[in-house]
Amino acid sequence: MIVIMNHNAEDVDIDRVLQKLKDAGFQTHLSRGVERTIIGAIGDKTRLSDHALEAMPGVEKVVPILQPYKLASRAYMDGPTVVKVGDLEIGGGTIHVMAGPCAVESREQLLQAAQLIRAAGATLLRGGAYKPRTSPYSFQGLEEEGLKLLAEAREQTGLRIVTEVMDPRTVELVAEYADVLQIGARNMQNFSLLREVARAGKPVLLKRGPSATIEEWLLAAEYILAEGNRDVILCERGVRTFETYTRNTLDLTAVPVVKYLSHLPVIVDPSHAIGKWRFVEPMACAAIAAGADGLLVEVHPNPAEALCDGPQSLTPENFSSMMQKLGDIARAMGRKMGKLK
Ligand code: PEP
Ligand code: MN
Repeated sequence: MIVIMNHNAEDVDIDRVLQKLKDAGFQTHLSRGVERTIIGAIGDKTRLSDHALEAMPGVEKVVPILQPYKLASRAYMDGPTVVKVGDLEIGGGTIHVMAGPCAVESREQLLQAAQLIRAAGATLLRGGAYKPRTSPYSFQGLEEEGLKLLAEAREQTGLRIVTEVMDPRTVELVAEYADVLQIGARNMQNFSLLREVARAGKPVLLKRGPSATIEEWLLAAEYILAEGNRDVILCERGVRTFETYTRNTLDLTAVPVVKYLSHLPVIVDPSHAIGKWRFVEPMACAAIAAGADGLLVEVHPNPAEALCDGPQSLTPENFSSMMQKLGDIARAMGRKMGKLK
């Protein structure tokens, strides 16, 4: 439930409500706004009724939450949540593009990619050092060596780093290097990983599972939020359908739907959704028009030589021309493209 305090509620009123909830075994989350304070409470409602709370001094209203996710819901916070990554703000009306190769392959490849995407206007560099490959015989990533290269690319370009973490045992290590920790689609419901990542104190990019409903996706986000980490960015990356021409089916309806249900920022990854580079640009444009807060796009200095996901990777030239179109669409939608200082 959500307890909305009166605009003139005093600290003592708030403390009394918090204590009452705690005594009844509820987990509480306090959110102090400029106008009013709200308390999110999760627990067994048979132990404390809405009416008992509503009778307390300073309480304006108690709103039951019908959705199973609570902290991720608009009922808890109308939002929007703005996730700060250094001085970049994701979710506040500015569009951020995260771009780079599927995998960190070498120093030369990564630094070249970083320079090129920065010149084209991206603000974050993506690149996997730990790769979730379908086959155990495929290239699995450079691991810590890849993380070091990502850090070097950040030093050189000022781009912020987003990279995937696949195993609770490496969360601490990846968090030493990354600005944003990515949870891949295959791990969306790896609940022990979600909890561990939440505790690392870095923003989390949570990809939608290939067969996850929107509700399951928001419940996965809830695991991170419930650990006290409020910096969650959701990423739609296509879902599995009967269609075989594309790698997945990009569910663009998820953008307005999730924005209606949740205050969290939503970005779109057209590369993994479609799997073919020539359709990445039109769907990236559509994602921005649909209200996405950003994009995650694979770009490789030489896609034909890529060790991973070459067919869906944009060349730097194609990326650059896509960025110009995105700028036009953002302006038409009354939004602007994020920039590095
Ligand atoms: C990725 O972004 O590198 C990736 C593996 O994507 P997904 O988890 O969406 O398949
Ligand atoms: Mn990839």
